Amino acid sequence: MDIERLQPVSISMLNEFLYCDRRCALHQLDALWQDNAWTVAGTIAHEHADDPGYRQTAEGARVERALPLFADSIALVGKADIVEFRPGDCGREIPLPVDYKLGRRRKWENDDVQVCAQGLCLEEMLGVPVPKGAVYHVKTRRRREILFTDQLRQLTIQTVENVRALLSGDAIPPAVLRPQCEGCSLHGVCVPELAGHPHILETAYGRLFRTDG
Ligand code: SF4
Repeated sequence: MDIERLQPVSISMLNEFLYCDRRCALHQLDALWQDNAWTVAGTIAHEHADDPGYRQTAEGARVERALPLFADSIALVGKADIVEFRPGDCGREIPLPVDYKLGRRRKWENDDVQVCAQGLCLEEMLGVPVPKGAVYHVKTRRRREILFTDQLRQLTIQTVENVRALLSGDAIPPAVLRPQCEGCSLHGVCVPELAGHPHILETAYGRLFRTDG
């Protein structure tokens, strides 16, 4: 693999891709974006990085905020909301990345991959093992730990490759109506309901370029 020529992938894209590959393509390739209550809530959550509930859970740790991250070996870049450093063996500090989310745990695996990607970057940057990370849910003031298992690490690296493949092409994956569509801010431009009715799309395409009025 020619690492120097790899297109960089940002950690936030991994989250977006696992939520829905079509959404990731519409955003990253077609520059389509719309906010809704969920996306605004996500932005607000990061502004709570000094939440008092969080400060309790981080007691005894040295805390770095908005830490830039990179893993050159897989051309991955991003930023951690928070990284806690706690004493480990041989006087070394063990980092633990913490990502802020406003709501409760969602059903998809994208949050776990996002935090694992932060862990992979920290391992490469600092040369220390990073066995786990956490998501801090601002609304419930709950912290959920995420173990970086081999399976999660493999899924994370595979997702980096899948996102890079998506970015290097120009194909937008087809719409598939799924539970995620309900909270998707691009629902209005994607209209996944039409995917189950291809004849409606064919008729619309047919009329698009007809000139006989
Ligand atoms: S509406 Fe559904 S299919 Fe369309 S981009 Fe959003 S999640 Fe993906």
